[in-house]
Amino acid sequence: MKFTVIGYWHGYPEAGEASSGYLIEKDDFRLLIDCGSGVVSQLQNYCPIEEIDALIFSHYHHDHFSDLGVLQYARLLHNTWKAEEKKLVAYGHLLDKEKYNLISYEPHVTAIPYNPEKVLNVGPFSISFLKTKHPSPCFAMKITDGNTTIVYTADTSYFQELHQFALDCDLLVAECTFYEHQDPTAAGHMNSRDVGILAQKANTKQLLLTHLPHFGDRNQLVQQVESYYQGPLELASTGWIFEK
Ligand SMILES: [Zn+2]
Ligand SMILES: [Zn+2]
Repeated sequence: MKFTVIGYWHGYPEAGEASSGYLIEKDDFRLLIDCGSGVVSQLQNYCPIEEIDALIFSHYHHDHFSDLGVLQYARLLHNTWKAEEKKLVAYGHLLDKEKYNLISYEPHVTAIPYNPEKVLNVGPFSISFLKTKHPSPCFAMKITDGNTTIVYTADTSYFQELHQFALDCDLLVAECTFYEHQDPTAAGHMNSRDVGILAQKANTKQLLLTHLPHFGDRNQLVQQVESYYQGPLELASTGWIFEK
């Protein structure tokens, strides 16, 4: 199972980069998690866009959702020019029906709602969900191929159930939008202290800090997290890979 960071910025992408997007691959199956601004452009450095088999959204904030429209056009144009029918299956939750309805773009993109109470099987992956604490309904995801487990917090402030959900995972991809001295709760995000405590309580084997802030010295996030969590950790960067 191979995990690649396509984009990792909070709110908007910096020049030549992307906001939230992560590629998970196994046995030639490619799942894209979130599709924020800049993801369609960046993605092409790692695989042809038409090779994405499935897409899943944690929630519908622009920094996770805004490249959906151009991804739909990419599939339309590919299918038209190549006379192929490469369908993309895209999953989203139904807690914002208006946004969910934007996902479907038949016959090129088929929308399927996920039930967060149930495990969703997508290609070789099983995905379970946990509703997060965020202004827009949002779901953390636990993705496993039966051997390796990756937990993606998506956007959330810290809450107890999160570390149980992430317990003993191989890789925790945790949003770390604020520095330790900042109170992230009202915005529905975590600061470096929250992430450190989460990773330590979850006993995660490896930690990736993502959804990173545009301001301040981001290396300080690593130092701040290290006061609470002693395992291996890194800041997300474009093209960062985890493989196991
Ligand atoms: Zn959000
Ligand atoms: Zn976000």
